[in-house]
Amino acid sequence: MNPDVSALLQVQADDLRVYGIEDRIKALAPRLSALEQERKRAEESLAHARQLVEAEEQRQREVQDRLRQHREHRDKSEALLGQVTAPREAAAAMAQIEQAKRFIADEEKELDAIQHRLSDLRKATVDREKSLKDIGQAQEDARVTLAADRQNLEKELGEVQADRNRKAQHVPRTLLQRYDRIRSKRRTTALYPLRGQSCAHCDTAIPVQRHSTMAATGATEMCEGCGVLLYAADE
Ligand SMILES: [Zn+2]
Repeated sequence: MNPDVSALLQVQADDLRVYGIEDRIKALAPRLSALEQERKRAEESLAHARQLVEAEEQRQREVQDRLRQHREHRDKSEALLGQVTAPREAAAAMAQIEQAKRFIADEEKELDAIQHRLSDLRKATVDREKSLKDIGQAQEDARVTLAADRQNLEKELGEVQADRNRKAQHVPRTLLQRYDRIRSKRRTTALYPLRGQSCAHCDTAIPVQRHSTMAATGATEMCEGCGVLLYAADE
């Protein structure tokens, strides 16, 4: 194989490694943003649970107020019953007492139901507080891990790039420039061998004349089909 092409193939191997490392660095950020979205959802869910508790507590205060009023009414009616002498007035007072007692029983039942709901809602709130805290912790751990991953990858990237640049010094300048121009558009393999008399990447046939020149001189040619740089591999 032509030594220039062989040197360029080594540069390309490093470039492909660089792309791989760059892709892995890019993939780090989405992991953090996924956790951030999870945290936001947990926050909203907790806020909703707290609203439900507040609404239920408001209902509880209202029922307690009504209950107090009914009890006052009952007490007044009982006091009145002790004072009246006329049977008609006594009957009216007793009817008032009965009605107040029915209201009291209803409100007490309602208070009991509220108490049950409140206890469930408060438990849900505590659970959601815990989830939020867990997510915060996971987020913190992920930040530390990701920072370490990033640092390692960037170190590796620097080493591969330095290696690449050292190897690039063995490639003739014009060949390297052609190769760099092509890969700047592709960000993947730019240098392909001929397979038979065709481009190994897109299978476009190369005219016989050019093909034999490439084989004889080791010259590289741009593929007219896909734009990669072609070389004649040893046959
Ligand atoms: Zn091609």
